[in-house]
Amino acid sequence: MNTIPKRLDSVYLAIQNCQIDHGVTQSVQLLAVSKTKPAEDIESAYKAGQRQFGENYVQEGVDKIQALKHLSDIQWHFIGPLQSNKSRLVAEHFDWVQSVDREKIARRLSEQRPAGLPALNVLIQINISHEASKSGLDEQELLVLAEKIAELPNLTLRGLMTIGSNTDDDALRQQEFLRMHALFERLKTKYDSVDTLSMGMSGDWQQAIACGATMIRLGTAIFGQR
Ligand SMILES: *Cc1c(COP(=O)(O)O)cnc(C)c1O
Repeated sequence: MNTIPKRLDSVYLAIQNCQIDHGVTQSVQLLAVSKTKPAEDIESAYKAGQRQFGENYVQEGVDKIQALKHLSDIQWHFIGPLQSNKSRLVAEHFDWVQSVDREKIARRLSEQRPAGLPALNVLIQINISHEASKSGLDEQELLVLAEKIAELPNLTLRGLMTIGSNTDDDALRQQEFLRMHALFERLKTKYDSVDTLSMGMSGDWQQAIACGATMIRLGTAIFGQR
């Protein structure tokens, strides 16, 4: 029995209800995080109307992109840590990269983006919790990196991504999400292309929407436990 379409329907509904409950005005996109799940699961979600998918591992993601080429209107987001020796595959196959956190990676992605494809959409990943185990840029360094990215010909700066603290302390996470929202608003005043604040996962997405997220990234809630 396939439960993915049912789970997706209830997620879409829950997002709408959350927007109403919190009186938020921004529209919210759903990124379906399909890491470790087979291409058939993505196809089930696609048939239920989902178009944006997120992958964390380069080779696994590229294999699924190739297996699902016939679903040509999928937008593929790379959301995992990115090493420079893997950047070419990402530049060649994905539509978005949400985990850009240094100039070297940005430069390589722009240089390696094939001519004839639209610019690669990028989000700058911020390490808002300052946890040593997390990748992402320190917020102090945001504007410098944003300026570099805005100059690169084959990238479009679309906004910011973060992973909130893994904590039971809602107040702490709220502080982090609100700081992200303030950074996002500031970036929007500088760059017309900026429209995306990606934050919130299966455990904290309602709070992220209440704090201004325009994109939430859900894996478990759609595809089940990994
Ligand atoms: C795995 C992952 C998600 C989804 O996590 P769930 O808890 O399964 O919803 C979201 N964002 C990133 C960056 C991830 O690596």
